[in-house]
Amino acid sequence: MSYLLETKKILKERAFKEASQLVEGKIKEIRSGTPNLPFEKTKLAEVEINKFFYEGRTVDRVMIVLRSNGCQHYKTNGGCSMCAHLNGAPLTDKITHQNYVEQWNSVIDGSFVESAEKSFNLNDYPVVCVYNLGSLLNPEEISVETVKYIFSSLNEYKGVKKVIIESRAEYVTEDILKAIREEYDGVVEVGIGVESTNFLIRELCHHKAIEDTSIITDAVNALHKFNMKALAYVNFKPIFLTESEAIEDAIKTSVDCFKKFGFDAVSIEPTSLQENSLANYLYNLGLYRVPWLWSLRDIIHGIYNQMNVCKLDIRLGGYFDEEVLSGSQGAGFSERNEIFPHMTSSNCSYCTNDFVEAIKQFNMTYDVNDLDAVKQCDHCYKLWLDTKKIRDSRSIYERIKDILGGE
Ligand code: SF4
Ligand SMILES: [Zn+2]
Repeated sequence: MSYLLETKKILKERAFKEASQLVEGKIKEIRSGTPNLPFEKTKLAEVEINKFFYEGRTVDRVMIVLRSNGCQHYKTNGGCSMCAHLNGAPLTDKITHQNYVEQWNSVIDGSFVESAEKSFNLNDYPVVCVYNLGSLLNPEEISVETVKYIFSSLNEYKGVKKVIIESRAEYVTEDILKAIREEYDGVVEVGIGVESTNFLIRELCHHKAIEDTSIITDAVNALHKFNMKALAYVNFKPIFLTESEAIEDAIKTSVDCFKKFGFDAVSIEPTSLQENSLANYLYNLGLYRVPWLWSLRDIIHGIYNQMNVCKLDIRLGGYFDEEVLSGSQGAGFSERNEIFPHMTSSNCSYCTNDFVEAIKQFNMTYDVNDLDAVKQCDHCYKLWLDTKKIRDSRSIYERIKDILGGE
């Protein structure tokens, strides 16, 4: 390598390291304020019912969130910039196998349901999500024994057609998938946080800690080897990006997820705000706005155009008509579940609800016409168009230094 190229490389590496330290340092500082709440270890964090598009029809899906030990990436490196799921995990206590078993048994016998007028039978739900506010396949967060216990009991419920779980890519190993397959022969889909296929965006804006994407390729290959489905989570509009950069990144990332990594489905997750996240911190300083819902149209059109299709298994995450069976999503923010975002992506107060209804419709058809049907809003459509014109000539490094470096 020539001297000039070598120097450039060293400077780039130094800039990356400095920016990365600034982001991680700030995230860790914010996390130190996370309250240590006294959670009941044998009670589920949340159970809700919502609609899901499965094999050409709309079915009921139950989303079960275990009270869990929380994400390891979050505990060791501060976690991702937009996430604060650790708000819902005990900080100094540990959820044991026995605690998880008791939580899961309350699903099996329906005893978690808080209202006397309602009953619950897992067999009524063709799609079942089992989440642990982290990686269900990381044995440091939840033991293999526990995961096997959950899947072995799911095998008894033939009304359940598909089970969706989540894990960071590095824990999606052949060993753990084999252990699951020994217990369960139904359809399993594993959601993996990719967020962005652009290195700088993923590592600096998301703080994802997946420097080498070969672990994503390995995870998808392992899933397919065990006849499981791979779902990619793509975060739309991380911090430090303009609206138009974020749109472009979400399109490119989604296309990469299908074409390069071979994912079976993509879920686009517009950033929402939870307490104790870096995204929320920047929002409070007026340095971040959640993404516009109008932008989702551009993203879906962009993906369909580049993939040359008119429908794909692309979900828009975060917007459901949910019925909460257990949890604490009270009417006021103060009563709400600790993992519940206090702000989701939005347009203006006049048209956000219409757009959210269109998203719910889209999630049941994957037809972009459902999004196009929302009438241009007199109050905000022009503002959104203008927002898309904003350009930032600074590099990501410079933005991070400007925003976090001078404190
Ligand atoms: S997004 Fe996933 S990997 Fe990132 S901190 Fe949250 S739970 Fe952990
Ligand atoms: Zn509007």
